[in-house]
Amino acid sequence: MKRIAYLGLGIMGSGMATNLLKAGYDLRVWNRSPESCKPLVEQGATQGQTPAQAVENAEVIIYSLANDNAVEEVVFGQDGILSNVRSGQIAIDMSTVHPDTSGKQAAAYAEKQVEFLDAPVFGSKNESATGGLWIVVGGKQEIFEQVKPILEPLSETIHYLGDTGKGASMKLIGNSIVATQIEALGEALVLATKAGLNPQDVLDVLHVVDFRSPIFDGIGKMLVNRDFTPNFALKHLLKDANLIARFAQDLNSPMPAAAIVRETIKTAVNQGWGEDNASALIKALELEAGVTIKS
Ligand code: NAP
Repeated sequence: MKRIAYLGLGIMGSGMATNLLKAGYDLRVWNRSPESCKPLVEQGATQGQTPAQAVENAEVIIYSLANDNAVEEVVFGQDGILSNVRSGQIAIDMSTVHPDTSGKQAAAYAEKQVEFLDAPVFGSKNESATGGLWIVVGGKQEIFEQVKPILEPLSETIHYLGDTGKGASMKLIGNSIVATQIEALGEALVLATKAGLNPQDVLDVLHVVDFRSPIFDGIGKMLVNRDFTPNFALKHLLKDANLIARFAQDLNSPMPAAAIVRETIKTAVNQGWGEDNASALIKALELEAGVTIKS
């Protein structure tokens, strides 16, 4: 399989598409805002004018889109992917969406004899650009085995987790921990600031202790530098928190901590910080506490 269509060239998609080109695939790209296709076209990709046109000759169709609505529009909408697929193609959704959205897509593609995998990712802008993502996959195992070589240049690891929706489920489960860790770090650093500790000293300790975490290191460093450049936008973390709440509610699963974190994220987005990095949720805690975390 050599011909790939890649749709959705945001922070994550642009890195993945670039790595597919570097790996020698024949790539056709599409993005809602067409100017994002330019760097890829300059490196040898062709550009589709619509999702339907982009997927026409592809053997494998991959997309990384903002949210469930974007997937709805790009897959099911006018000139969407489904309007122009043919039997034998494989579609891979790498967006973070509700597992039901994966199920809906799998059913619609199946009607057209197209195979479908949900394959969302862990990692952020840097891991996407360097091919170091951690991919989690749901769908038929034999289809996963067929496309695994395509996912390998994008990733450090790939976990196959079961039938349709299992990748999407794993992604939400993982992001519930990510959000809770950011909240925990923010609460701790606000308290440390109020207690007269230097936040950088606190981060130095958190870097070595037995509960250390790359999230504490990465987010902590950006925070003390007051750097909120989006690697993963806060608006997407709110989207994920809302998906997690719905997912857990459907399964009657308790997530009291996640519910509190969702409120913090919501407060921060309502302050106008949705386009900032996800770590901007900590600004809502600072606001409440009347302090700013900096070295
Ligand atoms: P992003 O930079 O905001 O890019 C979003 C992409 O979706 C863009 O290509 C955007 O097109 C497109 N899009 C949004 N609404 C659309 C619509 N209605 N119709 C068509 N296209 C639409 O987001 P990202 O950070 O790359 O994230 C992409 C997905 O990966 C999300 O589901 C996110 O939760 C997930 N994810 C992100 C990270 C991360 O660290 N960034 C990590 C893991 C997973 P335009 O360019 O035209 O706006």
